[in-house]
Amino acid sequence: MAGDSANALSGFKPQKDFFIGIDSDGSVFDTMSIKQRECFIPWTIAYFGLQPVAQAARECKEFSDISSKTRGINRHKATKRVIGELLPGHPLVKARGFQVPRLPHYFAWVDDPESTLSNDGLKQAIAGAADAGAKAELKNALAWSEKVNQVVEQIVRAVPAFPYARESLEKAAALADLIVVSQTPDEALRREWRESGLADNVRLIVGQEMGSKSAHLAAATQGKYQQDRMLMVGDSLDDLQAAHANGVLFYPILAEKETESWQRFLEEALDKFIAGNYAGDYESGLISEFDALLLEKPPWV
Ligand SMILES: [Mg+2]
Repeated sequence: MAGDSANALSGFKPQKDFFIGIDSDGSVFDTMSIKQRECFIPWTIAYFGLQPVAQAARECKEFSDISSKTRGINRHKATKRVIGELLPGHPLVKARGFQVPRLPHYFAWVDDPESTLSNDGLKQAIAGAADAGAKAELKNALAWSEKVNQVVEQIVRAVPAFPYARESLEKAAALADLIVVSQTPDEALRREWRESGLADNVRLIVGQEMGSKSAHLAAATQGKYQQDRMLMVGDSLDDLQAAHANGVLFYPILAEKETESWQRFLEEALDKFIAGNYAGDYESGLISEFDALLLEKPPWV
């Protein structure tokens, strides 16, 4: 694996004719469920005072981050979706008459297109906060995010890559420049790729500290590869949007069908991509199947 800084991303030079960006959580590693259920959910309840509606918070978070069309979005966007949008409409919350916390300063930061949605980005926002109330709210969000990182480090260990992912990456690495494009913090991301022995297949590993996935793909590919020779492998609509916003083709890893998805990549999709037969009907068919599996509305609506 080559250098790891933002400079490494913008200075990234093609060594092959083809480029493949690869999402990590839920695409290569079976980490979605353990990270959400054992790390994010309990500490979201704890830090944002959701104990009286813990079951509702759990259901909202699982819907948002595992089974719905927002699967895989940045953790701060996900928290805004859960606390700001989903939780107030949950029947258990309504039945209890629970006042869901309002977090105007944190959510404004999440929505600001200038924000880098990472712990460092939050620290900058705290330094520039207008008053003590705003500062306290942002500090709580930072403390939550740091706690989640600490818990992930303790709990998310030895999570294996999905079957066929290793073979796929090894085959792809001989044909294309591979980089990991993720919204996981760099440290956890690099540890997972190192521990699994997969890091040698990729030229760069890029996490949330370097901005959005779309920004990663733009920096890594713009003006560097020919059309239809760039591909992103991912498990979320955010991955798809980042790919298409940059003229990059998309290969979906289907939720609950990850093994079949990687087998198809290894035995069919990668060959089509390299042969120039991927764009068009083949990609559209895969994306339709993928989109249909991700839920639009929560089951309680
Ligand atoms: Mg993912």
